[in-house]
Amino acid sequence: MRKQQCSKCGAEARVIRGSYRFRESGLPNVILQGIEIIRCPVCGNEDPILPRLNRLMQVVALSMVNKPYRLRGEEIRFLRKYLSKTGQEFARLIHVDKTTLSKWENNDDRVGDQSDRLIRLLVLALGQGLQGFAASTVEAFPGIKDRKSPVRVEVDSEKMSYQYA
Ligand SMILES: [Zn+2]
Repeated sequence: MRKQQCSKCGAEARVIRGSYRFRESGLPNVILQGIEIIRCPVCGNEDPILPRLNRLMQVVALSMVNKPYRLRGEEIRFLRKYLSKTGQEFARLIHVDKTTLSKWENNDDRVGDQSDRLIRLLVLALGQGLQGFAASTVEAFPGIKDRKSPVRVEVDSEKMSYQYA
């Protein structure tokens, strides 16, 4: 069995394969499946070994723009950061003021339907390698529903595919 040092306490930790809640993304409900995790038996710390991180972030971004429910604040923030935009830059692109964007991102105000769709389109237009997904995503726009509770996204990190659970 592979062993690695725990990044927190330095103890010898095991490398296991399993599911990992991808909190580093800022999204509370994205689960990475089948990835290697360094699990420390001493302090309980878990460090994921993230394979092909750029591709992984691309798949997560795609799962957000194709989500059949209105975008939540943390998802908008994730997508903005995915495009490497500041709040100000992003607000300018979608023609709202910074305060409005900030309220959306903090779930203090919900994003309107048209802004929701515009954000998805921006990600498809500007996200690296995402342009080819624009047509199928747009065609699914009429099916997007309201839903307040977060949706769980499971990402298969071997196949680089995702599903909503
Ligand atoms: Zn430890």
